[in-house]
Parts: sequence; C-alpha cells; structure tokens
Amino acid sequence: MVTLKEVLGPLWTAAKHVFAKPYTFKYPYERVPSALQENYRYDPKAGIAYPGSKGRHLLRLDKCTGCSLCDIACQNIAEAITMVYAYDVFLEMAESAYAELGKRGSPVTRAVDLIAEGFTRYLSDEYRGGFSHPILPVMVDLKAATKTQSGYSVRLNADAVWAHGLDRLVVNYLEDPFRALISEGYEVRLVKDESPDRAVYELSKDGSSVTLRVEKRNLNIPVNKKSYFPSVDYGRCVFCGFCVDACPFYALEMTPDFELSSTSRVGLVYNPVALAGPKISTNPPSINPIDAIMGWLRRKLG
Ligand code: SF4
Ligand code: SF4
Repeated sequence: MVTLKEVLGPLWTAAKHVFAKPYTFKYPYERVPSALQENYRYDPKAGIAYPGSKGRHLLRLDKCTGCSLCDIACQNIAEAITMVYAYDVFLEMAESAYAELGKRGSPVTRAVDLIAEGFTRYLSDEYRGGFSHPILPVMVDLKAATKTQSGYSVRLNADAVWAHGLDRLVVNYLEDPFRALISEGYEVRLVKDESPDRAVYELSKDGSSVTLRVEKRNLNIPVNKKSYFPSVDYGRCVFCGFCVDACPFYALEMTPDFELSSTSRVGLVYNPVALAGPKISTNPPSINPIDAIMGWLRRKLG
C-alpha cells in the first residue's frame, strides 16, 4: 500500500524545484550573459592566440592575400574551406532575340528561363523575396538590359557567383540547364575563348540564339590581385580555429555568432562576402511575458 510519504515526497521535491535557481537558460529567448563576446584571434608575429568565441568566421577582405594557408590547415581537419573566385554571368542577344524575351513559347525565353533556374534552383521563396543568400546570387530583372553595339546584354547575377574555378561553376550551376536545353533540341556550343577567366556559350534553336558569357570579376583588392578568397562550409566546420592560427596576414578571426542553422545544405556555405559581412543570424522571437517574469523571479529568488 502506498504511504502518504510516498505520495507527498515527490510533490514536495517538485515544489522545491519550482523556485530553485535555474542553471539553464531558455535559449533562444534568453542568452548566457557571460558568453565571451570577443572574437577569437591569433597574432602570427607574436605567436599568441587571444581568447574569444569560436563561432562564424570574420574575413577581412582587404587583408586576405589569397595565399590558401587557411584552406591547407583545414584539409586534414574538416575540408570546410574552399578557395573561390567571383564571377559574373551575362546573357547577350541580338535585338530580334531581345524582342522575343518574355514571349511565351519563344526559344529565347525558354533558354533564359532554364539558365536562370540553374542559378536559383536552390533558393526558397523566402530567398527570392530579396535578401541575399550567403552563397547564391539573387537573379536580377531580366528586362534590365544594357544596350550594346550588337544588341542587348543582361547581367544575370545580382551578387557575385562564387566558385573554385570556371569548371566548378559550370558543374554547379550550368550542367543541368545545358542538359535540359539539349534535350529540348537546342544546340549548346562553347565558343572558343582563350582566356581561362572567361567562357562563352552559344545557345541556339530555330534560328534564335542567346550568348551566355561567364567571366571572372576583379574585386580590386591590392593585396589579392586574383580576387581569390576562402569560403567556409559550416556543414563541415568543427570550429577548431586552426585556419585562424594559420593565417599569416591577420585576415581571419572567429566571432561569437554561432546561430548558423539553415533549411538547406547550400545555406551553410558562406562565401567570402558573407564571411566579411556583419552577423547574419536573425534575432529570436520574444519570450512569452509570463515566462519572462517567472524566469526573472526564479533567478532573483532562487
Ligand atoms: S575552424 Fe572550421 S574552417 Fe577553420 S580549420 Fe577548423 S574546421 Fe576548418
Ligand atoms: S584568410 Fe589568411 S590564410 Fe586564408 S587565404 Fe586569406 S590571407 Fe591566406
């Protein structure tokens, strides 16, 4: 038979804990006030690491020389760093082809739609809404064309398209659209181009053609003439900080920003501009007022 003590004992224990001082926080509504808000840094000349939180990296574009030492340091840890170049993508077409752009069923419209889809297929509706995704370029208005001598030129990317090289860019963004175009009867032809920084393709069908030009963008950073920077894949990074220790040019730090979750795999890959920018993670929703008061009381009275 259950005794009164056995019934009341657990209730008493539970009641005591209602007012016990909590050692946990209601994250994300409450933050740990003592969390180190300094960046983790390393001074290569002095050989000293400064204490700081090891969250998202901060890349100083003006100091990064593109030496790849951070990438090499990471290779035996997590292979989270990829060195990347910035590219621009242009669609060029004659006036007659430009007049067809936007018309339903026109080969020009179909070709442009498929190429644009190659660059935006990972984007959720949220990203299409306007703010820049950490890695993917947001497509610009296709009708915002520049008049050229031979017709019109449309820059397809709003932000730089980052890739390890032209080959990688084609695999990441253009292979699927090219395959779809060929299956729909288009001729996709690589126009001979001697420059390793540029690729030009001609997409044609039924007498209409569009030229796709991909070329490297120079960010005009004096110490990094090739505009070659690290990107970090936070799906792989273990936040060890070895890349920071390996940088001889004070270009890399780690910040207290640890809120890096994403609903897509590619959302975890931060390009150099995202790494150089301010905190990206969003503020959490505000806490229910009753819970806020209870939390405050428990901390004060516990
Ligand atoms: S902190 Fe991340 S990116 Fe840097 S070396 Fe470690 S695993 Fe690689
Ligand atoms: S961040 Fe530092 S180590 Fe990495 S490429 Fe730039 S200068 Fe070199």
